[in-house]
Amino acid sequence: HKKNTSDSRLVVLGAPAVGKSALVVRLLTGRFIWEYDPTLEAAYRHHTTVDDDPAVMHIYDTAGQEEGEISEAHARWGDGFLLAFSLIDRRSFSAISTIHAAVAAARHTPNFSCVIVANKTDLGHLAEVSEDEATELAGELGASLFMTSACDGGPSIQAAFFELHRDVVRRRWSR
Ligand code: GDP
Ligand code: MG
Repeated sequence: HKKNTSDSRLVVLGAPAVGKSALVVRLLTGRFIWEYDPTLEAAYRHHTTVDDDPAVMHIYDTAGQEEGEISEAHARWGDGFLLAFSLIDRRSFSAISTIHAAVAAARHTPNFSCVIVANKTDLGHLAEVSEDEATELAGELGASLFMTSACDGGPSIQAAFFELHRDVVRRRWSR
């Protein structure tokens, strides 16, 4: 039988230099790009298979939110939000709460699909944020946490995007 394709609009948010573009590029190409224009914003269409069904993820890689000043247009366009911070940058961790609140304000509800991504696990010796703290924050926001390294790769990057996609589709059907 013909399977239905599910789709989602995923927005990648987080402070500058946490690795948003590196994570997206890793998902799309399987490669790590060291230097990426930090001001670049780009939209991608990712055709993939989630739980044996065809899926299309429309992914918007934002330039980054220094003080949590998100674009209202992105907040409304998206139906899932990947909130990324860097384990070696305490400020980027603090920014997650601010960004989450800004998306909630723009969407007039704190109840939206999101996952938290703690990136740069490969730089453990420089860590400013512990996994326990990240787990606690994710719990407060009602979101799943994924520990990632865009540099090393590994399954957790795809797992984060897939979980977000699943949650978007799940909520759409339960509306
Ligand atoms: P963005 O501003 O959030 O899009 O961040 P970028 O993807 O441009 O990455 C910012 C810097 O962090 C670049 O120099 C990347 O090479 C580096 N970077 C990104 N992810 C990782 C990672 O997982 N590990 C390490 N060691 N460096 C990373
Ligand atoms: Mg970027």
